[in-house]
Amino acid sequence: MDLGISGRRALVCAASRGLGRGCAQALAREGVEVTICARTEADVKRAAAEIGAAAGRPVHWVACDITTPEGRAAALAACPSPDILVNNAGGPPPGDFRDFDRAAWIRAIDANMLTPIELIRATVDAMIERRFGRIVNITSSAVKAPIDVLALSNGARSGLTGFVAGLARKVVRHGVTINNLLPGQFDTDRLRVTYEGRAKATGRPVEEVLAAGAAAVPAGRFGDAAEFGAVCAFLCSVHASYIAGQNVLVDGGNYPGTF
Ligand code: NAD
Repeated sequence: MDLGISGRRALVCAASRGLGRGCAQALAREGVEVTICARTEADVKRAAAEIGAAAGRPVHWVACDITTPEGRAAALAACPSPDILVNNAGGPPPGDFRDFDRAAWIRAIDANMLTPIELIRATVDAMIERRFGRIVNITSSAVKAPIDVLALSNGARSGLTGFVAGLARKVVRHGVTINNLLPGQFDTDRLRVTYEGRAKATGRPVEEVLAAGAAAVPAGRFGDAAEFGAVCAFLCSVHASYIAGQNVLVDGGNYPGTF
């Protein structure tokens, strides 16, 4: 299927590894002019080269912390006025909510709620003017079914989800869609951090907890960033113009509800 987005410009945040990288790879393969960002110059530069080589087109990069105003300015300078924005950042640390003070909550809200809102604010009006825009926020299955050790994620991402639910209905008539992609359990560095928290909490070896976690997913395994990226690319495609304000779970059947 031709996704109809060849030649469009995309900013994919936090994309030197993991799910962001999977999204960047899928978009670049569709002929999108992709800019990726991540904090460490060597990592983001190498990732851009590898993604570009696999897609057969150059991928732009910028080293910045997307959760800071300076970092967002740098990302937008590297990719001014994108047609496609994939919002992503590292997730907050796991732990018992009693250990999270106000500063920890502010950091989580900054990274996983206010950063995407700021980037949407900076880009959506130009998308509306061009009558085409795609915004995909990488959130978490924790928005639909909270995860015990991820109180910061459960809370901060729900705030973003509520905001997006309102705005998506305002902009879709102008050809701009905003949707959230909710990863279940994907085999990335981040997943390992979550499982390390769980192993610590239960006193079991991390490899044992990981194996049990993968076996418990109805698909029988953790997800792969490439399959996550493919769903993202479809949401960014011309074919997804009537999908707005949705929370799309990509979780191997893990969410137990009928709807
Ligand atoms: P990851 O740790 O594998 O990769 C994160 C990427 O973001 C890296 O490229 C890192 O360099 C970059 N990054 C982190 N903080 C950044 C910042 N402040 N500025 C710029 N770049 C930054 O993580 P992942 O598994 O790909 O997860 C991506 C997001 O999805 C996270 O918010 C995570 O909490 C969430 N999530 C992941 C899973 C999963 O199973 N992997 C499940 C639910 C939610």
